[in-house]
Amino acid sequence: MLKTDVVVIGAGAVGCAVARELSKYAVDVIVVEKNDDVGGDASKSNSAIIHTGYDAAPGTLESQLVVAANPMYDEIVKDLDVPFSRIGAILPAITQEQFEKLPEIKEKAFRNHVYDIEYKSGEQLLEMEPNLNPEVKGGLWIPRESIIDPFIFVQAMAENACANGVRFLLNTKVTDIHTENGKIKSVVTTDETIETKYVINCAGLYCDEIAQMVGKAEYKVVARKGQFFILDKNTSCRVEHIVLPIPTKVTKGKLMCPTIHGNMLVGPTAEDQDSKTDKSTSAEGLASITADVTNLVPNVNVRDTITQYSGLRPNRNPEGLHFDIWDDLEGYVNLSGVRSTGLTLSVSMGKYVVEQMLYHGAGFKLKDHFIKERKGIVKFSECSLEEQDALIKENPLYANVVCRCETITEAEILEAIHRPLGARTVDAVKRRVRAGMGRCQAGFCGPKVIEILARELHCEPTDINKNIEGSYMVTGTTR
Ligand SMILES: Cc1cc2nc3c(=O)[nH]c(=O)nc-3n(C[C@H](O)[C@H](O)[C@H](O)COP(=O)(O)OP(=O)(O)OC[C@H]3O[C@@H](n4cnc5c(N)ncnc54)[C@H](O)[C@@H]3O)c2cc1C
Repeated sequence: MLKTDVVVIGAGAVGCAVARELSKYAVDVIVVEKNDDVGGDASKSNSAIIHTGYDAAPGTLESQLVVAANPMYDEIVKDLDVPFSRIGAILPAITQEQFEKLPEIKEKAFRNHVYDIEYKSGEQLLEMEPNLNPEVKGGLWIPRESIIDPFIFVQAMAENACANGVRFLLNTKVTDIHTENGKIKSVVTTDETIETKYVINCAGLYCDEIAQMVGKAEYKVVARKGQFFILDKNTSCRVEHIVLPIPTKVTKGKLMCPTIHGNMLVGPTAEDQDSKTDKSTSAEGLASITADVTNLVPNVNVRDTITQYSGLRPNRNPEGLHFDIWDDLEGYVNLSGVRSTGLTLSVSMGKYVVEQMLYHGAGFKLKDHFIKERKGIVKFSECSLEEQDALIKENPLYANVVCRCETITEAEILEAIHRPLGARTVDAVKRRVRAGMGRCQAGFCGPKVIEILARELHCEPTDINKNIEGSYMVTGTTR
């Protein structure tokens, strides 16, 4: 039986942020993740915006954590070498009715302590964003709304936690939790049972099922699907900022913004569904995005789509972000309702969880040596010609471009596979170095990535999965 102090369930943004925060302390931590990669579920299928919290419900835990999180990104993205940009958001009012809502939105932002939100006239907004609907009456400018690479962000937190001693058990599902005399005793997994003093439930969509294992299922999680288009980098109609609609009670609405790598992101929908696994996109859902976003940016050209995807928000019923610990269950921490702002607030949630555990008696002591920084994989395409020349001299595999759309070299793919918590699937390579993220969507580099993975992992191409177990891309030879 494995033994540890803390088991974190789930290696999404929240689980990895909690694990990284705990790794600053002299405490043994194991993260258990049912997928074969870190990066989570909702954490890899979202809008990738680091919010300010301007529109959160004032006085809630969500407002507190999002507002606290936003300024933390200036430091954390430098420490962890994560692509991030403070491009800012505009909230244009296209109709008179929307225009009349602006004071209320600004006042709410102030109540959330977001004071740098400003009015802009229609002319000012059109100057900032020429592709905006020319009927724009005016709007709000929210300068600290930002964009990030969500894949690298979660990987970076996981890699840094790992460098500081956290163990990750991937491909391992938590199936039960044992308690004794009102205390956490052990976590049963599909692999081993782990004896532990603490369990932190960061299981996202499945946090209600984990809570049920300890008799604390006071809520249900309903998946709220969000569908998106990703447009080609060369699309005819671009925006330079996050262009947000006036939010409703149900959703922040459908937006258009650049991704950190220069594509255009358009979406998402908000559709409640029973299934926690159905991530299909639908003609109706996508059509509703086009209809809504056209009001903001009339020339948006969804015919330049290179891919579509959807993500599932773990919406809690009753609603709201919750942090719970119970007097009659020592050692159990439950997080639920981490919904539309979970990527942003993961970092402040990590701190909050540890502070609460300390407050409730966990005697963790800070380590003498915490490794604060993590270096990402060198991006050959972003290097100067001199730097590229030097890289090729040092390692000729930098001269072999495997993904032509994104100019990703074999050397970068090898690093994605061989660094700690390295890639084991085609999608895991894609999320680390962007091979297959370009216009041809892996049509050219897909077979080459399979070949490299099989060679490096000493297995057959037929053993390589696209993502989950059983998602083989090659089934055998034809001749
Ligand atoms: C459409 C959409 C748009 C969004 N846009 C934004 C945005 O722009 N900005 C923002 O801040 N947030 C956004 N979010 C929200 C954000 O993505 C999530 O709140 C956040 O990623 C949640 O992270 P998590 O770690 O809680 O969950 P997840 O990423 O879902 O991770 C949970 C992990 O737990 C694992 N797990 C579950 N059960 C078990 C088990 N029994 N054993 C082991 N492992 C288990 C899962 O496999 C998964 O890896 C969006 C979400 C969606 C869906």
